[in-house]
Amino acid sequence: MPPIIDETKCKRCGTCVDTCSEDVFYGWRKKQIPQVSYPQECAYCNGCVEECPEGAIKLRIPLPMMLLYKPTA
Ligand code: SF4
Ligand code: SF4
Repeated sequence: MPPIIDETKCKRCGTCVDTCSEDVFYGWRKKQIPQVSYPQECAYCNGCVEECPEGAIKLRIPLPMMLLYKPTA
């Protein structure tokens, strides 16, 4: 699933929009809550989740991608 923004937590800062290299939030305008315009473009990099200062974004990684995930270390 693409990212889901909790509108009660979002402070409309745009950090997630700036973070996303895939333009998933394309069309965002300042002071608006970002909308997921291109969910199919999400690469599940988790960048928006990590950078959101309000913890307002949730991302559910698809099961096939979780199976392929190998932690570095
Ligand atoms: S980074 Fe978080 S608080 Fe800022 S616009 Fe995105 S969801 Fe909202
Ligand atoms: S997980 Fe990555 S690709 Fe997907 S919306 Fe967030 S920053 Fe963009």
